[in-house]
Amino acid sequence: MPAAVLVVEDELLTRQTLEALLAREGFRVTTAGTIAEAMAEVGRRAYDLILLDLMLPDGDGLNACQRIRARHQTPIVILSTRSALEDRVVGLETGADDYIVKPFEPREVVARVRAQLRRAQELSRTERAEVLHIGRLVVDAALQDALVDGKPAGLTQKEFQLVHLLAARGGKAVSRDFLIEQLWAEDELASDKNVAVYIRRIRQKIERNPEEPEILLTVRGFGYRLAS
Ligand code: CA
Repeated sequence: MPAAVLVVEDELLTRQTLEALLAREGFRVTTAGTIAEAMAEVGRRAYDLILLDLMLPDGDGLNACQRIRARHQTPIVILSTRSALEDRVVGLETGADDYIVKPFEPREVVARVRAQLRRAQELSRTERAEVLHIGRLVVDAALQDALVDGKPAGLTQKEFQLVHLLAARGGKAVSRDFLIEQLWAEDELASDKNVAVYIRRIRQKIERNPEEPEILLTVRGFGYRLAS
């Protein structure tokens, strides 16, 4: 089924341009010219993605972004003439997934919309998966353990959480900061060293030679990833 995209934009010409552009790419496009219309649409049916202008006749799009994000996981891409870094940051902090500055390049809009849809699809697939296969590793949420070549590694709860976070990203690198943020509460002592300690323990359980890891790899200066 084609992805359903809601375009929230008050300028007629821009709205029509976006509508035609996305329809030509095969998306099911609905448009709204005000925040009120947008909120009504979002309540009416499930959208796969929302393109959101910021300066709307009945208010600030950021406000709509916040209200939508409070209830829906739908990817939101902000479209705005406000190009200041601060505006971008506020937009992303308000729950938007991406920020495109107007005037936009049609191909860029399409590429970013596709990228967000792909990301959302991957996330929902990962969240649903009880068992993740990646390279020689099987991460089993029901067992709360990882298996290497069919053999359970015997991970502790936190070790499992760490491996699961990496597995959920496929073979993509995950930053040390993200791991710390996800695994340790703010008041817990969480230094880089702490992550390294866990990585070392996990390697002892899953690698043939923990000194020369083949499964849980270090991404120098960034974080870690699983070999896929
Ligand atoms: Ca506008």
